[in-house]
Amino acid sequence: MIRQFELVERVKAYDKFADEDAINKAYVFALKAHGNQKRASGDPYFSHPLEVAGILTQYKLDSKSIITALLHDTIEDTEATTEEVRELFGDEVAQLVDGVTKLARIELQSDHSDQAENFRKLVLAMSEDIRVLLVKLADRLHNMRTLHYIKKPEKRRSIALETMEIYAPLAERIGMQEMKNELEDLAFSEINPEARSSILARIKFLRDEGKDNVAAIVDELKDLLAKNGVAAEIFGREKTPYSIWRKMQKKNISFEQVADVIAFRTLVDNVGDVYKALGIIHQAYHVVPGRFRDYISTPKGNGYQSLHTGVIGPDRQRIEVQIRTRDMNQIAELGVAAHWQYKQSVSDKSAGRDFQWMRELLDILEQAANPDDFLENTKLEMFPDQVFCFTPAGDVIALPAGATPVDFAYAVHSAIGDTCVGAKVNGRSVPLRTELANGDQVEIITSKAQTPSPVWENFVVTGRARARIRRFVRQRERDEYKNLGKAILERVFRDEQYELTDKALKEALTLFTMSSIDDLFAEVGSGEITGRQVVEAVYPGTKKDKRKNGKVIEFARSLGRRKKTEPVKPGIPIKGMIPGMALHFAGCCTPLPGDRIVGIISKGRGVNVHAIDCETLEEFADTPERWIDLAWDESAVDDVHTARLDVTVTNEPGSLGELSTLIARNDGNISNLKVTGRTSEFFDLKIDIQVRDVRQLTNIIAALRASSAINSVERARG
Ligand code: MN
Repeated sequence: MIRQFELVERVKAYDKFADEDAINKAYVFALKAHGNQKRASGDPYFSHPLEVAGILTQYKLDSKSIITALLHDTIEDTEATTEEVRELFGDEVAQLVDGVTKLARIELQSDHSDQAENFRKLVLAMSEDIRVLLVKLADRLHNMRTLHYIKKPEKRRSIALETMEIYAPLAERIGMQEMKNELEDLAFSEINPEARSSILARIKFLRDEGKDNVAAIVDELKDLLAKNGVAAEIFGREKTPYSIWRKMQKKNISFEQVADVIAFRTLVDNVGDVYKALGIIHQAYHVVPGRFRDYISTPKGNGYQSLHTGVIGPDRQRIEVQIRTRDMNQIAELGVAAHWQYKQSVSDKSAGRDFQWMRELLDILEQAANPDDFLENTKLEMFPDQVFCFTPAGDVIALPAGATPVDFAYAVHSAIGDTCVGAKVNGRSVPLRTELANGDQVEIITSKAQTPSPVWENFVVTGRARARIRRFVRQRERDEYKNLGKAILERVFRDEQYELTDKALKEALTLFTMSSIDDLFAEVGSGEITGRQVVEAVYPGTKKDKRKNGKVIEFARSLGRRKKTEPVKPGIPIKGMIPGMALHFAGCCTPLPGDRIVGIISKGRGVNVHAIDCETLEEFADTPERWIDLAWDESAVDDVHTARLDVTVTNEPGSLGELSTLIARNDGNISNLKVTGRTSEFFDLKIDIQVRDVRQLTNIIAALRASSAINSVERARG
């Protein structure tokens, strides 16, 4: 445990104006407040806030943040009150502690929609003062470091998942790379320990094989630069198991194809030297095409600046080289905390607002009708891979990878998104669903007559576009339900010879606890409430059987009390189908929920659903009229689907056992297995696996690829 004077020393080492007395006071206050509370590890509880404060000193945060860290659990877990904290430490600290406390409170509720609400509050809280988030992240980091002490596996898992889905991306978003890496890797070792250890084993193998390789490359690069007049510091850094795993999953490649398991970080004095170093390295070695990135002229959304390049380096090995100044490196490692150091003299509440992504989140927040939508929208945006495109005027628009012209249009302005009818990329007309590439110049063609199309939802990737489209679709759906509901009620009332008046309906409103007649119409139109129930609520005498009336009213009341749920979707989890047509999943490519799909209409057989990359589709290239746009309706996906894999395993004892174990560990079920080829070294297999969706399958594929017993894994296509 860090001792009191050590903590103060650490803070004073980087901030000579630190409020020593206040830190001491907070130390004693928290120590007393937590008394003899214990953590799951058996340590005194106070060790936790102390460690959290310790983590924040590594980021050189101001005294108020350190004090907040010491106090962060006192309001929630001890007798201490906000008023006491305010009295002893002032308004600013009280507000910070309050922000962190609120988040902790919501964190305790772990069901899904609460998590969404949680996240929403988190964004709101930190937009007030980013230090709330910094303390929260340090809190989470310490909790993750001590996660193994928690006994219940389900609890460990849910904390790890939340870390992976929310806190690590947040850390990344504010540029705290080191924090993000550690959070992710700790979560990964809880969520998928086998995958992590097999990757570690393979890294170790590479390391043993290459032995002093890294040091030799560092020396050679350093000499090369020095000879050409650039003084540089160079480090070889191994990537984390999780980042390697992500790459394998995302790029659909095997461990061996993940080149550059080690990145060579080159630090120089100034920007001029950065480009000079790049020139020297590119002159000395072959450049790997497609690997050069200039994040100096176009920084990442979180402020990250660096050059990245790939070369066939010393020893004819593919290596990744990152070149940046020391200042840039400071920001790359500390992110927003690095900015904070420059700003710490002023209590700058606008610090959080400098971040464009946070404004975007707040934007989505205002658009999204329910918290689940919000979580969905933001999670998609969290992944850092971006493409940069240009407007005709030359402005840069940063979008997530996979973004389409519609995303681009919404990123420029929501009115342009709403009315877009076509797009030109680099001067050529392209379909709106086209994936944009880095450097594309995009021109959007608009028409006042256009409104957002529900079909766009199938291909947009930005939260902003999705939220706008959904809102529009929902609004239109509601209008339709409203008209339908009104027509239903008119008919039912007429049948019972009552007049449908606003006055009569207003009475029903209280019973159904609704605030407007339009709401009532919409509920009736969507089938949530029947027309008869409304008549009976307004005129309890309508039904002969008096006993049932009581029940109807009770039912109406319970409806009012009941939480809103999603309307029940029909059985087929596919959007865009022609009603009444039969649906088949093509055996050639076995599409799964999550795959991009199309339908092919075939005479007398209905619609065949194919994965968009299925080779069979070439046969239909000349008959576009048979193609229909389809998308999975994720909310209706419940049953299992069959996926087909082509797998090559080494012909060794235990290989097949390992194969089936890995599939089973990832909850996959082998429903069919056929040996299609066999040599003295390898088996070729076709395996049918039952899975829920493509995410689960991607996990299985990556797990198989991480194993050394398995030579190759591909999804069967055509
Ligand atoms: Mn805590």
